[in-house]
Amino acid sequence: AKSAGRNNWKFYVNEMNERILERRQIETDLRQALRRHEFFLEFQPRFELNGMRVAGAEALIRWNHPSRGLQSPANFISVAEETGLIVPISDWVMLSACREATQWEDDFIISVNLSPVEFYCGDLIARVSNVLQQTGIRPARVELEITESVMMEDAEQALVIMQGLKALGIRLSMDDFGTGYSSLSYLRLYPFDGLKIDRSFIANLDGSQSSQAIIQSVVGLGRAMSLTVTAEGVETSAQLDELLRVNCHQAQGYLLGKPMSVEALKTLMAMPAGR
Ligand code: C2E
Ligand code: CA
Ligand code: CA
Ligand code: CA
Repeated sequence: AKSAGRNNWKFYVNEMNERILERRQIETDLRQALRRHEFFLEFQPRFELNGMRVAGAEALIRWNHPSRGLQSPANFISVAEETGLIVPISDWVMLSACREATQWEDDFIISVNLSPVEFYCGDLIARVSNVLQQTGIRPARVELEITESVMMEDAEQALVIMQGLKALGIRLSMDDFGTGYSSLSYLRLYPFDGLKIDRSFIANLDGSQSSQAIIQSVVGLGRAMSLTVTAEGVETSAQLDELLRVNCHQAQGYLLGKPMSVEALKTLMAMPAGR
């Protein structure tokens, strides 16, 4: 048993070393990725539930790694955050997403995810302002999605920065709503335009009465606060029916549209509304 334990220990050390080396390799490769044009965006459509019209799309980053192949954000965003590379990467995302969106009809909203790390480092407001100027996009069409960890880090500074962003005329939404501790008070205290209900709540919507009650009250709350409520991760028509029943504003998910190329999105946007 003793030697098995020691082997286990060796195994863990090896495993840890491998993981550290792998992260270091990712970091090295990540530094080249922007220059080598290895990133691209997919767009996931967001639908207005009243009429099933496309309301806009969320930009989601992908990394076409020369040897490892296609990488999802889960594989590299945390490394980008630890190394500060998230700032130039996010600048690229915002610029590319907004540039694409200027080709769409003028009422489609483009959503971009912001990392809590970049929120406080450098001048976020100047960066966003630059993107607006460079693309000429109407600011009200740009939505930044942030999670509540942003407010948790520095409640007062977060408010100052969010007010600065609002002064540019863009939209702000709270992502992954319901997964944190104080989502409700944050909604009241910060200048949000929308909230996105985390997909863990939607996943339970089919059978669970308590999930149904939660969604119903979140939608009611959002409406009372004039927020656009979006349900994330809609995968079944039973979930969609329930969202229609409680009068949720918008929905996003594999059932309605997976993340796709900008060409596929444009085709979808040109199609007549369904349902
Ligand atoms: P998120 O912002 O919550 O984005 C939604 C994620 O759920 C996306 O995963 C999307 O592909 C996935 N999804 C959409 N519909 C469904 C569904 O019906 N079922 C299931 N199971 N999943 C669904 P993705 O693209 O892998 O992104 C994961 C996370 O990485 C995002 O979560 C976001 O936090 C982060 N991320 C993605 N792109 C960016 C980016 O450009 N910048 C930053 N800072 N973060 C990003
Ligand atoms: Ca998001
Ligand atoms: Ca989310
Ligand atoms: Ca997330």
